[in-house]
Amino acid sequence: MTKIDFSQINKSTAKSFNQQRNVIKLLAKGKTVLCEACQEPLTLTVKNEDESGVQCLKGCTQINLELDI
Ligand SMILES: [Zn+2]
Repeated sequence: MTKIDFSQINKSTAKSFNQQRNVIKLLAKGKTVLCEACQEPLTLTVKNEDESGVQCLKGCTQINLELDI
């Protein structure tokens, strides 16, 4: 069953910057982090050295960050 829960999207975008950055750091180290909404593994996409994105298979988690690692 596929259901898009916008409250989950708002919840995830309201997460603190540090929490999002921590997720990306874990993914960058090869750790597995699960989407809070669908429990699918999050994947890290590095667009360039300053910009990274994280999303799950279903797209309920999408984080785009400019990182200063
Ligand atoms: Zn998800």
